[in-house]
Amino acid sequence: MQPLRRNLGAYCGERIHVEAVQAALISVAEKKGWEIDWLECDDSDRFPVITRVSEKASQRLYVSAGIHGDEPAGPMTILRLLRDDCWPRDASLWLCPLLNYSGFQRNSREDKQGIDLNRDYRHRISPRVRAHIRWLESTPRFEVGLHLHEDWESTGFYLYELNPRDRPTFGERVIQGLSRICPIDTAEQIDGRPAKNGILRPQIDPASQQEWPEAFFMVQEKTDLSYTLESPSDYPLELRVNAMSLAVRTLLEAYAA
Ligand SMILES: [Zn+2]
Repeated sequence: MQPLRRNLGAYCGERIHVEAVQAALISVAEKKGWEIDWLECDDSDRFPVITRVSEKASQRLYVSAGIHGDEPAGPMTILRLLRDDCWPRDASLWLCPLLNYSGFQRNSREDKQGIDLNRDYRHRISPRVRAHIRWLESTPRFEVGLHLHEDWESTGFYLYELNPRDRPTFGERVIQGLSRICPIDTAEQIDGRPAKNGILRPQIDPASQQEWPEAFFMVQEKTDLSYTLESPSDYPLELRVNAMSLAVRTLLEAYAA
């Protein structure tokens, strides 16, 4: 597998038609019996959250995607998993499949106001982030949170684990499964942080940081275990969706068990 070498200074690969993808997410979720809620933002904008909550399920799992508008594999992975109905049967699920609609309209990391939503979870300037946090405050705590991302510069798949309470983790299991279908970024430094075989386990106290990604908010308020999954976006989109789907399924099945 060789990279396409299309990403010159930015993501230049396949784009999605965001309006059609959002419509497909809603349509397939409705058909499969999920509940859909629209979160109203201050600027007459709104975005969907998709949930399947069972009183009997003991595990509560959270997945978000599409917070960066130049990272299409995340929303496409949620669409794939909804179509294939590939979710643990005995868990409740909360999905935010497409957090930055306007970013996808222009293939940009930031939203239409130029805000990187994934740095806004401490100061909450964006109406979308405020609406997202209001909704999260109404949900229970989660067993685990997954955040689906892509990296246009990376040579392979990698993931971050935030695990402040030292719970058992499954990063190695994910990487081992993925290594058969997708290149892994084996660099010893990724994004300026130490990495080992595609796994970063940064020891960061969010309270000491000014700019919070969604994952920092989650480990402060909603879960004690978060995975940020990063597929390499200089490979074909189908390969990335295959890889991301396998990573999500591996983690959800591990934590639902
Ligand atoms: Zn991202």
